[in-house]
Amino acid sequence: MTYPNTQLFLNGQWRDAVAGESLAVFNPATGKEIGRVAHARQADLDLALSAAQQGFETWRDMPAIERSKIMRTAAVLLRQRATAIGKLLTQEQGKPLGEATGETLASADIIEWFADEGLRVYGRIVPSRFSLAARQMVLKDPVGPVAAFTPWNFPISQVVRKMAVALATGCSMIVKAPEETPAAPAELVRAFADAGLPPGVLGLVYGTPADISTYLISHPVIRKITFTGSTPVGKQLAALAGKHMKRVTMELGGHAPVIIAEDADVDLAVKSVSAAKFRNAGQVCISPTRFLVHESISKQFSEAFVKHARGLAVGDGQLEGTQMGPLANPRRVTAMAEFTQDAVERGATLAAGGGRIGAAGNFWQPTILTDVPLDAKVFNDEPFGPMAAIRSFNKLEDAIAEANRLPFGLAGYAFTRSIKSADLLARRVEVGMLWVNMPALPTAEMPFGGVKDSGYGSEGGPEAMDAYLNARAVTIMNV
Ligand code: NAD
Repeated sequence: MTYPNTQLFLNGQWRDAVAGESLAVFNPATGKEIGRVAHARQADLDLALSAAQQGFETWRDMPAIERSKIMRTAAVLLRQRATAIGKLLTQEQGKPLGEATGETLASADIIEWFADEGLRVYGRIVPSRFSLAARQMVLKDPVGPVAAFTPWNFPISQVVRKMAVALATGCSMIVKAPEETPAAPAELVRAFADAGLPPGVLGLVYGTPADISTYLISHPVIRKITFTGSTPVGKQLAALAGKHMKRVTMELGGHAPVIIAEDADVDLAVKSVSAAKFRNAGQVCISPTRFLVHESISKQFSEAFVKHARGLAVGDGQLEGTQMGPLANPRRVTAMAEFTQDAVERGATLAAGGGRIGAAGNFWQPTILTDVPLDAKVFNDEPFGPMAAIRSFNKLEDAIAEANRLPFGLAGYAFTRSIKSADLLARRVEVGMLWVNMPALPTAEMPFGGVKDSGYGSEGGPEAMDAYLNARAVTIMNV
């Protein structure tokens, strides 16, 4: 399938950048250029901003039921086009076709759930403590035009988690989508445009991330920022947003602990984590990473996990049978080599993988390190790749302390047959999302977000809506 050049979407129109600049897009399976994406500068951003202000006024004043219908139509279009969109996504990002199509379909589900939730943005009537003649109302209004910054690991669903909520609450949005994977998010925007979204409600730009975020966050039209990406960048953007008093949602890096207790169902643990670890080649913020396994079952668990990793079919995501694709960019291959070398030099055992595959494309072997010392880089920094690090423990309390040692707090996993241990883990493990005896299964209706350095705010459930709404108090005295 041919891969298109991607344009900007400004005020309801697809167009090249005003200055005519563009950036190359590469296929991570071959390293070859496959297309180009328009590079926005200030003139394009100014167009996007004035359109977003007008689009906001139109969208805010449209009845919620009409907004919901447009969102539902976009979800239907996305579903109809999922196979074609999946092919684009695999070409630019690398993940196997099944995962790429699945991401598109799951995004349609998220849009539909928020389309419904948008119908239930109610205010409140609060009895006055002073006079029966006073009518006190709490009104929920959209915050205004939103600027969203999204990464390349889930090019569509990372946008949808922001866009669906913004649209459901009556906000307009300018998305700076990832330059490395631009075509799939453009197809998402196209589905909304084809569904009848008024001009200006959505804007789509690409360019130099720091230039765009600095300009948009500082601009008075923008009332809210939402970002998914690394913790250091998130802190920079949150600081800038604070300077300009903008609302913020931050979905940042993680380092998910996996606690496998003495009484765990080891087969279930292996089955759950091995599929999860290598999904999207480990480039997932909730990917299971720090494995803390009770010493009595550590050998049994590691051997089964290693067997799975060695048996995975790694290759071009477009080919049938591929279970794990390439890493999305050459930076990740360099990072994998550094993490592996550092761990081995500090005394870890390389139990599986640990090397690059071939010379073309960004392929890395599914990698498992055992007996990893606490000071190894992989036990402290997010590897964001197909890499698992295992240590054993003796007491559950020690595993919980280790799980909480890092500043991250996004996802966590645990395996135990004891209700008492599951309850202790639920209360003590400092993460925004905990899955016990199962792999991660994020859905639109559940909160999605972290604590500590993993960010704040949620991208799921009714909690996500609040971040895009102002609660205003109005009292009318019937004189
Ligand atoms: P990076 O930190 O440079 O970029 C991460 C994302 O933030 C990219 O999409 C990038 O375009 C964007 N970005 C960077 N600087 C920005 C700025 N000043 N303004 C707006 N957006 C900006 O690193 P990278 O090499 O692309 O990815 C590496 C790390 O990022 C990973 O190790 C991982 O920790 C993190 N990451 C996290 C997620 C996630 O889902 N939470 C997704 C992608 C990357």
